[in-house]
Amino acid sequence: MQNRKKLLILSAAVTAIVGGLAARNVFSLNSPTAAEAGNQLQKETALLLTETGGTLSDKEAHKVIRAAQCLIVKSHTVGGNDWLEKLAQEYGAPALYIRSTNNLEDSSLRPSQQVIVYNKKGMVHTAKSVEPVDQVVKFYEKFGAKKEKIFASNNWDEIAEIQDGVLCLKPGSRLWIPEARKSFPIFFRPVAWSRISSRFGFRRHPILKTKRFHDGFDMVAPFGSPVYASESGVVTFAGVSGGYGNMVEIRHKSITTRYGHLSKISVEVGQSVKKKNLIGRVGSTGLSTGPHLHFEVRRNSDGQLQNPRKYLF
Ligand SMILES: [Zn+2]
Repeated sequence: MQNRKKLLILSAAVTAIVGGLAARNVFSLNSPTAAEAGNQLQKETALLLTETGGTLSDKEAHKVIRAAQCLIVKSHTVGGNDWLEKLAQEYGAPALYIRSTNNLEDSSLRPSQQVIVYNKKGMVHTAKSVEPVDQVVKFYEKFGAKKEKIFASNNWDEIAEIQDGVLCLKPGSRLWIPEARKSFPIFFRPVAWSRISSRFGFRRHPILKTKRFHDGFDMVAPFGSPVYASESGVVTFAGVSGGYGNMVEIRHKSITTRYGHLSKISVEVGQSVKKKNLIGRVGSTGLSTGPHLHFEVRRNSDGQLQNPRKYLF
């Protein structure tokens, strides 16, 4: 027990739908091994995890959840090291679905924020008050939901009741909406990178040999590879800028992106560019050890640096 890091998931309310009959029982991932927890999970068709704490390490629990046949929904408190794509990979649902459910404008998360995570493709609706089911279903049809699928994949005894002859969700209950998702603008990858040689955050600088904050992503790509605007916007800088070498800066609606160490610049200041437009070529100008693109994201409202991975997935 002591050597297990953070513990996850002690008890859960399980809704098992067997041949159209709803049965409720209490389920626990408090198993000595991941294999045992996995075996238990495979017997269930739908699961709502409500509490945290348990004997499995985070890593083991995530593996079980990803492999589970049944739906697992959990409220997660964002930690300092969490980011959307990471949570999505841990739980096994594409990030766009989780982003849709949590209505995240961009994919940035802040520590201690509560997000709903799960392991299947779809959205989770939480009823704020007594809500007529028909209205809720209609709302989600805009996002690709299918009425029949919603009806087939929820335990209605548990979450709804008839009020004045109308089927209504109980306040606070959660409705599973299979396959639905919203569409969000996602950055176009500015270069076809082979690997990320340096991520956002503190690192030992390869040339200066001191610990410094790295403002963006270093994407390794062959010299001369095309560099594209990751989003539409207006070019606010195009030229030489200190350690960046040849650099292009583009201002978008809510953020600004920078592209550094270019060998060639193909745009001018004041020019409007569209997402995917060619803006330059990969190089190694400025403070650089080899051909790569330095890609940086800042928020326009306060100039704060953003982790590029929040926008790239
Ligand atoms: Zn860099």
